[in-house]
Amino acid sequence: MPNIAFLNGRFMPLSRAKVSVEDRGFQFGDGVYELIRTYDGHPFHMREHIRRLGRSAEALQIRNPYTEKVWARYVLQGMKKSGYPNAKIYIQVTRGAAPRVHWFPERARPTAVMTVRKFVPLPEAMRTRGVSVITVPDIRWARCNAKSLNLVPNTLAREEARRKGAFEALFIRDGYVMEGGGSNVFVRVGRTLLTPPEGPFILSGITREAVLGLAKEVGVEVTERPVRESELLSADEVFLTGTTVEVLPVVRINQKRVGSGKPGETARLLYARFRLTVGS
Ligand code: PMP
Repeated sequence: MPNIAFLNGRFMPLSRAKVSVEDRGFQFGDGVYELIRTYDGHPFHMREHIRRLGRSAEALQIRNPYTEKVWARYVLQGMKKSGYPNAKIYIQVTRGAAPRVHWFPERARPTAVMTVRKFVPLPEAMRTRGVSVITVPDIRWARCNAKSLNLVPNTLAREEARRKGAFEALFIRDGYVMEGGGSNVFVRVGRTLLTPPEGPFILSGITREAVLGLAKEVGVEVTERPVRESELLSADEVFLTGTTVEVLPVVRINQKRVGSGKPGETARLLYARFRLTVGS
C-alpha cells in the first residue's frame, strides 16, 4: 500500500512531494503541525486535532488555508487513498515560501502538507513492562500550547533520553514537571491522580483530554494542578498519554524505580478503557 502525500490541495505519492527551499517552515520552523492516528479506518478525535491545528495557526498568525470541514475531507481522502486502516496522518501548515526575512512576507501563500503512512504500534513489551524516562530542564518557549514546528528542544531532550536508554524526557520548569517531549504526564501520589494544568507551558493533548474523560467515567478523580518535581520523583505511579503512546506506564525516572517498579493500576485501568473506546 502506498505512502501518500498531499501538497496544497493535491494528492501524490510521498516520494513526489516537494516544497521550496525558501519555505519558511524550512527556514524558520515557521509553521504548525498535527499528528492524527486512525484505528481500523477511524481517525481518533479528528475534529479535535483539526481544531487544535487552527488554534496553533492562529497563535502564530498563520492563515489556515482550509476550513475544518475541508481539512476533515482531505484527512479522510488521504486515509482512503493510502488504504492503511491504521495510519499515521501528519499535517503541516507553514507561512509559505518567500525570500528570507524575519518579518512576514506580504505575498506568500501558506504551504499545506499532509503525509499518510502506516502506523507502527509500540512494542507490546513497553506496555506490559513500562518505560524509563529522564528529566531535563525545560528550555522551550512560552507558547508550548501551540503545536509549532520548533521542536529542537524536544529533539535534544528525546535524543538525550535515547542515549540514556530511556523512552521519553520530562521537562522540568522552575521545580515543576510540565510534560514529555512528545507526551503529557499523569502522576499518582497515594490516591490522588494529578496532571499539570493546561497553559502556555504544555500542549493541550488530545489524548490527555480523552483520558480525563475516561477517568471520570470510571470514577477516577484527576486533579489538574502544577505538579512538583519532588512529587514526580516520589510518586506511586506515573504514566504518559499521547497519540502514539496512548496510555503508557512509566516505571523508572532517572534510573530510579517508580513505586514498585511495575506498571501501575491506574494506567492499566485507563488503558483498558481507552482500548474499548478505540474499538480494539
Ligand atoms: N506534548 C507534546 C510536547 C507533544 O508533542 C504531544 C504529542 N503530540 C503531546 C503532548 C500529546 O498530545 P496528543 O495527545 O494530542 O498526541
